[in-house]
Amino acid sequence: MAITHNLGFPRIGAKRELKFALEAYWKGQSSLDALTQVGKDLRQRHWAQQSALDFAPVGDFSFYDQVLDMSFTLGHLPARVKDFHGDALDNYFRVARGRSSAAAEAHAACCGGVAAGEMTKWFDTNYHYIVPEFTATTQFTLDASRLLEQLAEAQLQGVQAKPVIIGPVTYLAIGKAKDGSNKLALLPALLQVYTALLETLAAQGVSWVQVDEPMLVTELDAEWQHAFNLAYHQLKSSRVKLMVATYFGQLADNQYLAANLPVAGLHVDAINARQEVLPLLAMLPAHKVLSLGVINGRNIWKTDLTATLDWLEPIAERLGDRLWLAPSCSLLHVPVDLQSEVALDSEVKSWLAFATQKLEELQTLALAVNQGRDAVKAALATNLAAMVARRGSQRVHNPAVKAALQTCTPVLGQRQQPYAVRSAKQAALLKLPKYPTTTIGSFPQTAAIRQARSQFKAGTLNLATYESAMRAEIDRCVREQESLGLDVLVHGEAERNDMVEYFGEQLEGYAFSQYGWVQSYGSRCVKPPILFGDIRRPQAMTVAWTNYAQSRTTKPMKGMLTGPVTILNWSFVRDDQPRSVSCYQLALAIREEVLDLEKAGIQIIQIDEAALREGLPLRQSAWKDYLQWAVASFRIAANGVQDTTQIHTHMCYSEFNDIIAAIADMDADVITIETARSDMELLDAFEHFNYPNDIGPGVYDIHSPNIPTQQHMVQLMQKAAERIPAERLWVNPDCGLKTRQWEEVLPALRNMVAAAHALRAA
Ligand code: GLN
Ligand code: ZN
Repeated sequence: MAITHNLGFPRIGAKRELKFALEAYWKGQSSLDALTQVGKDLRQRHWAQQSALDFAPVGDFSFYDQVLDMSFTLGHLPARVKDFHGDALDNYFRVARGRSSAAAEAHAACCGGVAAGEMTKWFDTNYHYIVPEFTATTQFTLDASRLLEQLAEAQLQGVQAKPVIIGPVTYLAIGKAKDGSNKLALLPALLQVYTALLETLAAQGVSWVQVDEPMLVTELDAEWQHAFNLAYHQLKSSRVKLMVATYFGQLADNQYLAANLPVAGLHVDAINARQEVLPLLAMLPAHKVLSLGVINGRNIWKTDLTATLDWLEPIAERLGDRLWLAPSCSLLHVPVDLQSEVALDSEVKSWLAFATQKLEELQTLALAVNQGRDAVKAALATNLAAMVARRGSQRVHNPAVKAALQTCTPVLGQRQQPYAVRSAKQAALLKLPKYPTTTIGSFPQTAAIRQARSQFKAGTLNLATYESAMRAEIDRCVREQESLGLDVLVHGEAERNDMVEYFGEQLEGYAFSQYGWVQSYGSRCVKPPILFGDIRRPQAMTVAWTNYAQSRTTKPMKGMLTGPVTILNWSFVRDDQPRSVSCYQLALAIREEVLDLEKAGIQIIQIDEAALREGLPLRQSAWKDYLQWAVASFRIAANGVQDTTQIHTHMCYSEFNDIIAAIADMDADVITIETARSDMELLDAFEHFNYPNDIGPGVYDIHSPNIPTQQHMVQLMQKAAERIPAERLWVNPDCGLKTRQWEEVLPALRNMVAAAHALRAA
């Protein structure tokens, strides 16, 4: 009999209940009790939804972040918050986001706001966790209260509870040694707390504990491999059985290590590492349970149940009772329930599965394995029909797009002349001063703008009125930029809700959910558009707005587009073709837009690739391939223009060391990047590489409400000029200004323009 379990359930709630409860609490609009109750209700509801499983996860719920939860469980908090008094949850929020609720802070005579915990991406997902901070003197003490409370709730509800914790090696690996000390030296102390934790759980009647070790799908050196052996040899005497969970990729070189850890079970990602399962069967000790993640926990597509069973049945035969079945990873990374999507196109909807539906699929698979396919005949037939329909749908397959892709050669990505020639031609035409000033694209998205858009979407504002409101916003934006004296203007992006959704809505091959939210960090969620079919641009997407904006000024107006790689990386993408193919299709669509803008007389076109870096695969050995098609896609989108057209790109980060060659290969005439916080040190990568084209290192940290002074920005640019020849430097903010207020933006940009003037005069 195959056993079913789940690695984790999305906690934000089908209608983002947790988000709203958290934000109300932080603003002081609701009590701690009310928030705690929402957490309880969500856990109860989610366990009820998982009641068909043999084991449901406990401890996967979090008020902010599961890694931070683990830090609290291990009694491992940054020194700056150790002396806090007051409620534990308030202190938890202080570590997470720098402060707790308005009410708690008002009463906290002892402990005000502190620096928020540093966040970084959880493996290759768009989820961000709070980074554990280590020093040589870090100590750990067990605080099992959160897990025990949730366990008691689950047991009361009659749930077969399987507590979920982050494994000791992954916990160490994803943290940061603040003093440069060797984190692995902390492992023995850490293991003592893990031992105590497992004992505590055993005492509560727990039989299995899921220990997440996704580090096993990354490249490990000998020291870290050894750490795995050390850790699990120490934990093996525990009275509970351990299920070591790996996900997000292949075990590769770590396969033998993973198979032979002295634990009772191993979970592997049978979506991304399917070809490893058979070899693993041969390697696995005879007593060990193998959990196969057979439902994709990272996408929103229905599983091909028949194909999965064809593969799975012989394996089930061999494993018998030692087989467990689960989604590939925690369902944290998918939306909660497709049922809520009443407005979604019914054809597309019939191909999708969100978390709730994925668990139903799991149930169907388990029943088929345990009782034979006849037991779930109807479900299998419906599933097969959906698969067949999707494979044959004209909505998915557009022969014209496939034909265009066939003719898409690297020549398409080649500018006519090298940068040096182009830049001279552009300079003659654009006549920009030294240290030209510009912005990254968006200006403040005011309440009025958002209201107009939501009324337009709701149908209470007609198209003509909406468009004239947006034109008025463009007028204002152009007027302000002219009076500030900026050199290259933007239209301000008032008409855009989001830099990906805006384009997705105008492209064939995209669908949009209403409630398809996925947690990004804390209370923040994203709603990735669904790329389901071949991508076609039925008509120009931005030309009319850009033309209008250009008609309001004699200064150059930048056309503003999102690049193919960023559109891809911020979408749910197809599983029926490689990511690269979807990316090339997007590139062709953006290329058409670029050429239309050029034809309309736009001389400068910016193509944002904010998410290029975050698409890097987990294993470095796969980087080359990704960067190859990502850069090729950008080049296809951008490089069909005349020499005189200036291509800009923008990237919202500054870690370029390991991808600088790829960035240079994109061959954008100008790149703007985020550097304000790092004191320009991050330009080192460009300096050492002898990056040849123009660079605009951000001098205004737009993430902060602070207004940078002229002097500060001059100093930053002087530091930049020590690294990059001044003739190739631009002066601009770090990123778009849409989250800021006009009252902040105007003085900041005034100072920025003054800084450029001072630099020119020097
Ligand atoms: N052009 C976009 C803006 O200014 C770029 C934002 C981004 O890269 N995240 O908003
Ligand atoms: Zn940015």
